[in-house]
Amino acid sequence: MADSIRFILVRTSHPGNIGAAARAIRTMGFSRLGLVAPHRFPHADATATAAGADDVLDGIAITPTLVEAVADCTLVLGCTARRRGVQLEELSPRQGALRALAASVDGQAAIVFGNERTGLENDELMSCHAAVHIPSVADFSSLNLAQAVQVLAYELRLAIMEQAPPLATAAKIELPATIEQLEYFFTHLEQMLENIDFHKGRSPRTIMQRLRRLFLRANLEEREVRILRGIFDDAQRMARLARPANGRAEIEGGGKA
Ligand code: SAH
Repeated sequence: MADSIRFILVRTSHPGNIGAAARAIRTMGFSRLGLVAPHRFPHADATATAAGADDVLDGIAITPTLVEAVADCTLVLGCTARRRGVQLEELSPRQGALRALAASVDGQAAIVFGNERTGLENDELMSCHAAVHIPSVADFSSLNLAQAVQVLAYELRLAIMEQAPPLATAAKIELPATIEQLEYFFTHLEQMLENIDFHKGRSPRTIMQRLRRLFLRANLEEREVRILRGIFDDAQRMARLARPANGRAEIEGGGKA
């Protein structure tokens, strides 16, 4: 199960934090660390702070974007020190750990951490199913990056150790959709809304943010994604038919385009 849970550090500035994060997850039985566009890596500071967790450092996967780092995941949790404009469901580390563990039974889960100064961008949080907030005090809420990683890794270890048998054996019949499938789904949704002239000249950005939130919260299964995309296909087909340019709307729709 620990192999199906990965920790992703996004745009990390200090290589020392990368090594310290590697050590943090290694002590809790995890080994999968991913870096999204790190400022400096490999680096002597990372090797030093890893304090011997070299196997974790050696196995690090580096990707240019977060979506690539979590493309095959069915659950992505974004850790944030404070609340953002993007209203994501917010979980405690314990709730997040339980959710990740459940997802790791038959899929892949990722816990994502932001840059030391700026945290996670709103766009990055929009690829997350939920946010995790370590309940720090409001006027000094930001933990050191590697320490935040440690808290999550610890909660995950506790959850694995205490895990009740039903969680592991709960038979899921339907496969959950991966982030890659959801990204294709969102692109299709956006195109379809464009085709049916839903936006009427307004920016699609806000509505897409809301719809992403809605569909990520719904934890869609593969089959549900296929059904919805089938509906989008039909809507696009009808929109094509209804276009005045081919003259059919006037005939079929009594002149109302
Ligand atoms: N000023 C940044 C802080 C970044 S700290 C901000 O406000 O977002 C670096 C990373 O550590 C954060 O992006 C987050 O992933 C994690 N982190 C720090 N404190 C946290 C907290 N209280 N809860 C959850 N994650 C936290």
